Amino acid sequence: MVNITIDGKPIEAREGSTILEAALENGIDIPHLCYYKGLSRTGACRLCGVKVRIGDRWLNKTGHAPQSMHVTACTTEVGEGMDIVAHDSELRKARQLIIEFLLAANKHDCMVCESNGVCELQRYAYELGVDQKNLRFPSPEYTEPVDDSSEVIIRDVNKCILCGRCVRACYEIPVQKVLNFYGRGGIDDFSPKMNLIAGFDQPLGQTNCVSCGACVQACPTGTLSEKPAHYKGRTWEFDKVRTICPYCGVGCQMELWVKDNKIVRVYGCDDAPDNKGALCVKGRFGLDFVNHPDRLTKPLIKRNGKFEEAGWDEALDLVADRFKDLKDKYGGDALAGLSSAKCTNEENYLFQKLIRTCFGTNNVDHCARL
Ligand code: SF4
Ligand code: SF4
Ligand code: SF4
Repeated sequence: MVNITIDGKPIEAREGSTILEAALENGIDIPHLCYYKGLSRTGACRLCGVKVRIGDRWLNKTGHAPQSMHVTACTTEVGEGMDIVAHDSELRKARQLIIEFLLAANKHDCMVCESNGVCELQRYAYELGVDQKNLRFPSPEYTEPVDDSSEVIIRDVNKCILCGRCVRACYEIPVQKVLNFYGRGGIDDFSPKMNLIAGFDQPLGQTNCVSCGACVQACPTGTLSEKPAHYKGRTWEFDKVRTICPYCGVGCQMELWVKDNKIVRVYGCDDAPDNKGALCVKGRFGLDFVNHPDRLTKPLIKRNGKFEEAGWDEALDLVADRFKDLKDKYGGDALAGLSSAKCTNEENYLFQKLIRTCFGTNNVDHCARL
């Protein structure tokens, strides 16, 4: 541990952690957009600029009291005796300017944006008092077409602040390397010529994207959003339910966003030791079976070639009698059981016990192996 102070508050920080991590772990929010827990450090957005002094030396290129040469808290590791100023009027002005640039460089319409309410750009614009109607810089005239070629992701680069979180998420979580930046920013006219592209500047649906949604979860704005969730509810209307993915043996922890008893969005829990926020396509976008109209909720028995609804006792007695007949006639090894990943571990344990002890066979398997 190393001893530092942030805004006069003494803190014991983990050695090797950054100033931003130390601040966040101690309940101090330093505005940040490009930092995302678990991804590599980049220092792209500059919003987390702070002033750092060790003894009488300032930590920046000049070594003197900083005017605008602030140190990025997300890339600077803590050091013994650091005295950090994270909030003052000068830093606030610098942050307002950054937010103003970001708002001017893009086209934002929070009214119909899926991120309204959880958007980090919106949050900092509000907290720093930056009014979108009174920006000092011109906004681009053009609008990029919205990319809805993916089955599950909508990409609207008009809202992209080029923070790079999605790029690093795609490189570092599924390691698909689908997303990247193309071009450079404008110099004379403020027009952004740098953009987020997929593949070789293709529609996302035509790239090697595996639809894991790691980029969507990492995006601080509404640039990347879940297609199935569009217009299904505002962010503040959802109940949040923490649970475990039913599909495979990894047991990823997830948070379901539920409205009207329907699962609308799914996020990986970044504090879960097994998945650290990551999910695969099944966990993130494959839970619609829960509310699917074809899902069986009552047992059916086929009579005269037609399925008819039946009670559980009747259905289970019928199944037990038929299995017993088969076992008596052909032996236990004529039977087999295939269990489902959508059951709990306890249910699967009971299932294999049933097959081994009642059916008398080791012919038992589980669909997560397929
Ligand atoms: S990305 Fe954020 S700021 Fe932009 S329209 Fe959506 S909610 Fe508003
Ligand atoms: S969904 Fe996954 S694979 Fe596709 S671009 Fe996003 S992070 Fe990459
Ligand atoms: S799409 Fe989102 S995460 Fe990716 S660079 Fe743009 S704002 Fe950042």
